[in-house]
Amino acid sequence: MYFVTDEAMLDHCNRWDSIHIESPDRLKVILDQLKSLGLLEKANILPSRSASTDEIEIVHTKKYIDQIKEICSKTIEEIEEYCKTVEDVYMNERTYDLGLLSAGCAIDATLTAFKQKSSSFAAIRPPGHHSFQSAPCGFCVFNNVAIAAKHARQAGAERVLIVDWDVHAGQGTQECIEDDDGIKLISIHRFEHGTFWPNLEQSSVKHKFRHTINIPLNSIGEDDSSFISIFHLVILPTLIDFQPDLIIVSCGFDAAIGDPEGEMKVSPHGYGRMTRLLLNSGIPVSVILEGGYFLPSIARDAEFVVRALQGESFPILHTTTLSSTLSDTLHRVISTGSTSILRSIQYLLTKSTKHKNVNLRTDEYKKGSRVIPTSYPTRDIYTPRTVETTNLLELELNDCIKRYEKEGKEGSKINLIIDGDAVFSMIETKEEVEIITCPSLHSFVHSTIVTYLCPESLYHRFPISSPPSTHQLDILYSSLLSLSSIPSFSHIPLIRLLTQ
Ligand SMILES: [Zn+2]
Repeated sequence: MYFVTDEAMLDHCNRWDSIHIESPDRLKVILDQLKSLGLLEKANILPSRSASTDEIEIVHTKKYIDQIKEICSKTIEEIEEYCKTVEDVYMNERTYDLGLLSAGCAIDATLTAFKQKSSSFAAIRPPGHHSFQSAPCGFCVFNNVAIAAKHARQAGAERVLIVDWDVHAGQGTQECIEDDDGIKLISIHRFEHGTFWPNLEQSSVKHKFRHTINIPLNSIGEDDSSFISIFHLVILPTLIDFQPDLIIVSCGFDAAIGDPEGEMKVSPHGYGRMTRLLLNSGIPVSVILEGGYFLPSIARDAEFVVRALQGESFPILHTTTLSSTLSDTLHRVISTGSTSILRSIQYLLTKSTKHKNVNLRTDEYKKGSRVIPTSYPTRDIYTPRTVETTNLLELELNDCIKRYEKEGKEGSKINLIIDGDAVFSMIETKEEVEIITCPSLHSFVHSTIVTYLCPESLYHRFPISSPPSTHQLDILYSSLLSLSSIPSFSHIPLIRLLTQ
């Protein structure tokens, strides 16, 4: 596992509003946590370096790059005036240079992971996933992830999958990759029917962009169970179908417990497990830091992601009942049928009586919810929390970590054997389960069942075979329903979706 950062990035700070949430402390607490646990000693540390302007022109226009350079050479008052013309951005005299440094580190971490068939973590800022080809946006100046993905393509990656689990929609990346058929983006984000920032219709399930799958969350409070379900029902099937040579994670920690932006409840174990699920594919994984604003959470989240990248595994996080809004979103994402495995899941859903009761809403996006002001506010945007609130949220975080650690120690391991010829049958004893599946269903069953129950399991990269027949899917459907009465299996996200 490779790691890159540079403490110079702490110099990117808001000089006119000291309580801005995108603060240098975000990076500082992450580095302090990793150092205090000795995790950096176990990593291969890459030297930091700045990207050249030629390198970031792979995404951004020369005019835009020159403009940012010029703005950052002005007085702080003039920089603030400029920032009133763009959306939720602050800069200072160091931002241009640190934007190049951030992008350079993202490129090197990603190319090293790709070439060494390994994994990497780039602890960098300013973040990147909201910035467009010719405009900054949402704390982001240069789009680190899109730049890294395009350099990986130039270095020989035929297909790059970007998983953006930052709680805000990766609309900048969505636009920046649209001209490249070898890059696919899956973005999980708080949406609330378009009433949550950036309030864009292009962040809905249905949109005109060819390379983006959106998973918009229409309610707050979604937790590990929700995110793990999304992984099993959309991300892993897409990964198996797309067969990327490289996975890049737009790694925001703002869906974490206590985050003031996301108001979700993903735990450090959740982030670790999501990382583990991607690593299990055997495909190189490059993790690039984006947002995340509750300092006690992001320190632990980064720790668990790095521990996962270093080979540690975590206890099974049992999925619980899907919220009705998430269930609705998942049905709609699956109904787009954008990959062959999603089409198989869609077929299973059409057999389910539960699915027939789901209202596939057409009014997903409430038009008119986006308001563009004539001048964007630059000050007093964020209200500091009270010490009591922070303490309560920190308590919730620590309780959650302790609970998982206890479960991890007490949980028994299920041994799984997967074989290749017959259609689908299973034998279950207390400790051992055997699943036999036909070749065309192998990776599908693996993603839906085996990787859920057995975190250690690698789902090997199978050559794309012909899609399963209707007959095979009918048998799988019956098998899944029969498994639903067995406690371990009832937690499997697909079984939940079919039976809940
Ligand atoms: Zn974010």
